[in-house]
Amino acid sequence: MIVTEKKDLQTIRTLLKNRNNIIIVGCSECAAACQTGGSAQVKEMAEHLADKNILATISIESPCDKRTAMRDIRRIQEEMENAEVLVALTCGSGVQALSEVTGKPVIAALDTNFLGMVERLGKFYERCSHCGDCMLNETAELCPVTLCPKGIRNGPCEGITGTQCEVFPDRECVWNRIHERLKERGQADLFLRFHEAQDWGTSHLPREVIWERK
Ligand code: SF4
Ligand code: SF4
Repeated sequence: MIVTEKKDLQTIRTLLKNRNNIIIVGCSECAAACQTGGSAQVKEMAEHLADKNILATISIESPCDKRTAMRDIRRIQEEMENAEVLVALTCGSGVQALSEVTGKPVIAALDTNFLGMVERLGKFYERCSHCGDCMLNETAELCPVTLCPKGIRNGPCEGITGTQCEVFPDRECVWNRIHERLKERGQADLFLRFHEAQDWGTSHLPREVIWERK
């Protein structure tokens, strides 16, 4: 899930200066689960902006998906034609999809933080930095690219203190955890395997995945 946080309202107000005809767009998937862009937050934003002319509010299933964005926006076609600006309670991908689909300026009302593992609502953890060269099959499903603050692919580093991380002494070094887990599984030999450096030639931004439909 994409984890987002709300920008402060004053920032949104500043960006809306001299703009009046507004549509507020929420996301009923990730941002709803983060309680940053669900229908309750769309309503809250509309109340905060009550001094403006809110032409419509809408929650889109996946605003980052241009197909669902286009489909749902048809429901408010007339209001969209008259809108000066959209306020998007979505991730950055959603903001850009809405801009492409509507051709309107879109204000990003959220900050997009990371791809999160969910423990429960309000507890989200970054576990994958989408490096494009997944090594989890060799590291007992612990991602050093993300869990090591230096992103070291062949660890531990020289700074390890006992079992603890040099950078965050209150945390166990992920490479120690990997070693322990591999040992428990009788796969300690995997720990000695050398992992090639990240090939930035293939993982630079922006990335695309394109395949032909069969
Ligand atoms: S190695 Fe880590 S950052 Fe890379 S794809 Fe796998 S989980 Fe994600
Ligand atoms: S001690 Fe371990 S987790 Fe900490 S920076 Fe070094 S390798 Fe990474």
